[in-house]
Amino acid sequence: MELTITKIIQETSKISRFFFKNQDSDTIQFEAGQFIMLKHPNWLDSADSRSYSLANENTFTNELEICVVLNEIGVFTPWLFSLKVGDTIQASEPVGSFIFREEEHAGPEVFICTGTGIAPFRSMITKALKLNREVHLVFGNRYINDVPYIEYWFELAQKNASFHYYPVFSREEFAQNKGYVHPVYESILQGQSDPRIYVCGWQEMCIEARERLKKMGFNRRQYFFEQYN
Ligand SMILES: Cc1cc2nc3c(=O)[nH]c(=O)nc-3n(C[C@H](O)[C@H](O)[C@H](O)COP(=O)(O)OP(=O)(O)OC[C@H]3O[C@@H](n4cnc5c(N)ncnc54)[C@H](O)[C@@H]3O)c2cc1C
Repeated sequence: MELTITKIIQETSKISRFFFKNQDSDTIQFEAGQFIMLKHPNWLDSADSRSYSLANENTFTNELEICVVLNEIGVFTPWLFSLKVGDTIQASEPVGSFIFREEEHAGPEVFICTGTGIAPFRSMITKALKLNREVHLVFGNRYINDVPYIEYWFELAQKNASFHYYPVFSREEFAQNKGYVHPVYESILQGQSDPRIYVCGWQEMCIEARERLKKMGFNRRQYFFEQYN
């Protein structure tokens, strides 16, 4: 599909939110957690693309949103960040199997991410809360100024008693949870017999989380991963 940029919001010093309209259709529907693949105009090989999770709250929309961190030495993001409202870009339809599982189960929904790994959780958490699930979000960043959607998560925690937000900071001096996300979700999951656990973000965090969740006795029916590289 061909997307036109409708809005760009600089969310943090390195992260921007890009909004798009689909040229071919007024509305777009996707499964909570899916991503689209974007293409640089110079890339001729049909396999060349970069993937971005859809960051919309709602899965039926007339404007897609992605949340992207600039990698100054990267191939694609410097180009993406040079685009302006009105520019167009080629994209795939929404794809991916890292989606919210609606089936009933005994425990809470636990979402674990770092940085822009938060993107797919916006629609997944919206869906989980609509189904009256107990939701825990463990969200790691270096500093408070690095957190995308920071007010959104604090407000949601105030509005909805079923939503529990655990900000974690690896470098913020006076953080309540200082360090990495791992001990925080381990303490939430202690004693839980049948949670659903979603992990999203960069490789290192995902690999360590997988090891720790396995060690805690959880299995592949209970945890799901989306690795960003
Ligand atoms: C399913 C999925 C969903 C994703 N969703 C998101 C999302 O929502 N938001 C988001 O921000 N990202 C997301 N990503 C990651 C995204 O697809 C890209 O990988 C990312 O934006 C980097 O693209 P790039 O072309 O700028 O960097 P690339 O050029 O691909 O660089 C990738 C890596 O190589 C290193 N590198 C590149 N060039 C050099 C060099 N010359 N010397 C040394 N090291 C180098 C970079 O430091 C980086 O670690 C997702 C990935 C997947 C698989």
